[in-house]
Amino acid sequence: MSAHDSALSVPEEVGLLYDRLTALDTEGTGGSLHLGFWDLDDTGVPLVEAADRLTDMMADRLLLRPGHRVLDVGCGLGQPAGRIARRTGAHVTGIAISRDQITRATEIAEAEGLSGQVEFQHADAMELPFPDESFDAAIAIESIFHMPDREQVFREVRRVLRPGGRIVLTDFFARGPIPADKQRHVDRLLRDFIMTLADGDDYLPMLRRAGLRFTELLDITEQSVRPTFQQMSRDNDQLDPVFAEGGDAKFSPADMVDVDEFGSALLTAEKPR
Ligand code: SAH
Repeated sequence: MSAHDSALSVPEEVGLLYDRLTALDTEGTGGSLHLGFWDLDDTGVPLVEAADRLTDMMADRLLLRPGHRVLDVGCGLGQPAGRIARRTGAHVTGIAISRDQITRATEIAEAEGLSGQVEFQHADAMELPFPDESFDAAIAIESIFHMPDREQVFREVRRVLRPGGRIVLTDFFARGPIPADKQRHVDRLLRDFIMTLADGDDYLPMLRRAGLRFTELLDITEQSVRPTFQQMSRDNDQLDPVFAEGGDAKFSPADMVDVDEFGSALLTAEKPR
């Protein structure tokens, strides 16, 4: 990413970033755009498989049944939405801030014969274009860190969920103060991908203020961020185009491998009945 363009809002900038990343997926693989999840003794499992596992372990927390309506907040190219729809029989509506992702996700779903089960729409998660109580569940896989106001996202998700409906999400958070010599690597990642790090202590008060009931908070760093960066720095030639972006001074996953303070959280909450 080049310098911050103050004429654009953060969501608009993030939208353009993902439009560019969508164009980089020249083979149109339409894969998932998130990290993997590994058990501690199976780090040889390839990233694509481990990424599907993360989708599955998140979707499992939503207790979905056929016909349930699921909102996918920040749906990328729609791969997780398609997977959830196929595995559970739920109907998934994905939103993303990138118009090109929505176009691509819709094409891919059509080609895979999923048109009746998934649909995609351009929208900002901080202003959801859906009526109150229109979803049974919501999922946000590695998207909330791009959104300038996490609490506003929680409020909007609460509004569109039915009472008793669950939200599951993954987010990046600071597990502690980042040492000065590692700060620049973290800053570069946050800047290049237009993200902010949450403070782990904020989740519970934030959920409470947004009217959601806390269910579960897991620190999945050692099974997700760390092995993903390790695998990416080993297989540099297979580097995900998302991480190969950045021109001359490329972001390097190897720089992040030993930043213990850069954490990944899995959070589940529920709208009170
Ligand atoms: N969940 C997907 C994509 C993760 S990439 C996957 O796992 O494959 C982050 C996603 O968040 C992108 O689709 C991006 O368009 C979306 N996003 C970022 N900011 C957003 C916002 N303010 N409103 C809606 N979507 C947003």
